[in-house]
Amino acid sequence: MIPFNKASISEKELNYVVDALKNSKSSGDGPYTLKVYEKFEEIMGIDTMLLTTSGTTSLEMASILINLEPGDEVIVPSFTFSSTANAFMLRGAHPVFCDIRPDTMNIDECKIESLITDRTKAIYTVDYAGIPCEADTINTIAEKHHLYVIEDAAQSVGSKYKGRYAGTLGDFGCFSFHETKNYVMGEGGGLVLNRKEFLDRAEIIREKGTNRRQVLKGMVDKYTWHDIGSSFLPSDVLAAILYAQLERYDEIMEKRMAVWNTYQDGLEELEYKGCLRRPILPADIEHNGHMYNIILPTAEIRTDLVARLKENRIYAFICYVPLHSAPMGLKLGYRPEQCPVTEDFGERVLRLPLYADMTVDDTLYVIENIKKILCE
Ligand SMILES: *Cc1c(COP(=O)(O)O)cnc(C)c1O
Repeated sequence: MIPFNKASISEKELNYVVDALKNSKSSGDGPYTLKVYEKFEEIMGIDTMLLTTSGTTSLEMASILINLEPGDEVIVPSFTFSSTANAFMLRGAHPVFCDIRPDTMNIDECKIESLITDRTKAIYTVDYAGIPCEADTINTIAEKHHLYVIEDAAQSVGSKYKGRYAGTLGDFGCFSFHETKNYVMGEGGGLVLNRKEFLDRAEIIREKGTNRRQVLKGMVDKYTWHDIGSSFLPSDVLAAILYAQLERYDEIMEKRMAVWNTYQDGLEELEYKGCLRRPILPADIEHNGHMYNIILPTAEIRTDLVARLKENRIYAFICYVPLHSAPMGLKLGYRPEQCPVTEDFGERVLRLPLYADMTVDDTLYVIENIKKILCE
């Protein structure tokens, strides 16, 4: 059996969890949370990240920080997870769906400007499959029109764009450490504040609207209610898992990349035969091996391939139903033809099994099965 995903958990994760339970406190902002921050600074030079309960709540915190109001518009790709849109819709803002590029399946930066109105407040980008968006172009558009850029970097922890780490490419970066992502803590996330002036308020919003973090830092001696907020900080026991994963940062990255490259080499022949399309990487990015996806010629071929792989106990996964044509998108008044590239790729893309501990043999077995099914 080859599952779609399996988190890589070693003795280290187990030991740190036990240690956190025994010696630390199990609520948030304990010693393991601080160690996670040190690791992010050491590995990526990121020194303004707040650990959160999920990628979803990181996006929600960013949406609170930019003071979105009912009636505001946000430009967002439709080819993403529901959380990207929910985050700002919970503040009353309205999604304006932008189509994607056919190569990276990221937001098409050339189509953003025509969607901007005087109500537009922000652009939420998504680094799909761990491949960063065309950030320089997007930031230039945002500056010109005074918009915030929120980077949904849930899938791109450790990826780079022109040498800069994903998560640092917009005003805010939102990481996910969900068990299906590259570095895991069960459920968890991180909010990267690339504009330091947001840090104080972010700490308050994360702590139920109080300045409790200033007490922990010894800056004040009692804390009280200052702003709106919620409970966005994860247990230190979960931070202990993530700390172990970050100590294994290179190992996990290298293992995922090895699987990714095995697919890329092994499926080359099928691409030449016109049976599928492999991922296309822009020249100025380094990706993190988050996802290996193929594009099939038709939706029917994809449906058949998924079913037949499953007969051989190989579990492939059909990414997203585009948001604009999902039931909620239709309720908002969108029609499928409004994002034609998204609609087309949405029905033809397939994610293959990929996880750090996947063996070369298992990867070759998946490739052989795809060859058999598609070339018969
Ligand atoms: C996984 C994911 C999220 C949500 O992250 P959680 O930690 O599961 O809340 C948001 N956006 C994208 C693009 C994702 O892949």
